[in-house]
Amino acid sequence: MGQQRITSESVLTDRQLRSWLRCHRKAWLDRHGNPSEKIWNPHRALQLADRELRLQVLLQNKGSIRQLLLQQGNLRGRPTLLLQRPQASQLGAFSYQPVLLQPGRHGTREHRLTLAFWGRLVANYQGAPVTTGLLLTPQGLKEPVNLTGQLPRQLDQALTRLQTDLQQLQPPPLTQDRKKCTLCCWRRSCNQVAEANGELSQVSGIGGKRQELLQQLGIHNRSALAAIDPMVLMARLEANGEQRPELALELIAQARVQESGNAERLAPADELNDSPLPELAAAPGVLVYDIESDPDARDDFLHGFLILRRNSSGQWPATARAKYQPLLALQEHGEARLWQRLQALLAAYPGWPVLHYGETEAIALRRLAARQGAVAPAGLIDLHKRVRQHWRLPVDSYGLKAVASWRGFRWSQPAAEGARCVLWWRQWRARGNRHQLQRIFQYNRDDCLATWAVAQWLLNDAAAGNEN
Ligand code: SF4
Repeated sequence: MGQQRITSESVLTDRQLRSWLRCHRKAWLDRHGNPSEKIWNPHRALQLADRELRLQVLLQNKGSIRQLLLQQGNLRGRPTLLLQRPQASQLGAFSYQPVLLQPGRHGTREHRLTLAFWGRLVANYQGAPVTTGLLLTPQGLKEPVNLTGQLPRQLDQALTRLQTDLQQLQPPPLTQDRKKCTLCCWRRSCNQVAEANGELSQVSGIGGKRQELLQQLGIHNRSALAAIDPMVLMARLEANGEQRPELALELIAQARVQESGNAERLAPADELNDSPLPELAAAPGVLVYDIESDPDARDDFLHGFLILRRNSSGQWPATARAKYQPLLALQEHGEARLWQRLQALLAAYPGWPVLHYGETEAIALRRLAARQGAVAPAGLIDLHKRVRQHWRLPVDSYGLKAVASWRGFRWSQPAAEGARCVLWWRQWRARGNRHQLQRIFQYNRDDCLATWAVAQWLLNDAAAGNEN
């Protein structure tokens, strides 16, 4: 980076670099985007809370410094932690080494380049070179990173490209790997752009790699995919080494359904066992089951059940009157107690099907039963699987949020999502605020209600042919 006049526009920060390494568009939006389009990101709040806890422990090391603001030329940053070492510098008989607290087990290019960025600032601050930085895992493992090899050159290249991107009048395109978007504060506005452009990434089943391949074959958006002859696409995929060229049929069919906005039944109703949910036909009631988890702590902290008993004329009750039964699973109470409570609840409704959306609940129950030396309960029905077996829907994801929202279901806490629920859980555990617990129960109950809304559509409207 040559000599230049430093203005607020030319300053490059460690946060901008990290944003850019995740998604070029994010760095641009962070600087030029409309702040009112940003949405709060619970993942970031969780990461910051976790970092704070880890910092408190590490700051017990003598002479360590947290988040010192440093600047050299147009580079500005706050290394999370500086550890003191006995090598001399212009500060005295010691110098500093930057430390990055990794959120997971594996260090990434983003982590290494951030350390290189910090190393440059620290070297300038202490007037002595920084040859290694440290990556620290949540488990306390340390990985030294050599800051003198290829990294300085890679950092220069990244900073030059970041500067160029930030100077553009238009934002860079959406990232190819749209999975990253679920953790990003710009996801709402970017999803709108993707939908308006009919991007390939909006087609359920198309990830970064498939999008790239289709683009190489000249298919640049959803409408082009919907319009292509399936045999032609299969032949082109095969010629490009795709192992499963028949995938083309599924992707084209999905793109067509999304373009038209009309759901498509995958088999005529009369060829099914009366209904996609035959188990419910004669059942006296149904339990709708949903688990809330803290994935980092591997803690399934809430098992929630909606209890729906048919009335005397065989009708399903209005959901407003359905009983909701939350079972909190506090780790200090032990799994044996949770297992007993779950068994008691299931035993109170013998023969009732247990409806859940996705694999999580069945896997958790199976593992819990195995750890207790017991047999997993029978009667679980994965509604997600049934939806996929019987319908192709005009949705960009077959997750509960997307499918239930398509059916018109609305969560009573509009901004709620799994990560926010984890945040409420950790806050309740730390401070015992009952309000947070009520919000968790409400969110979990809503997930059960959303599952039931999808099931009811399968049972009633879909069976009657009201597909849309
Ligand atoms: S939502 Fe996705 S595409 Fe948009 S800025 Fe964030 S990561 Fe990039």
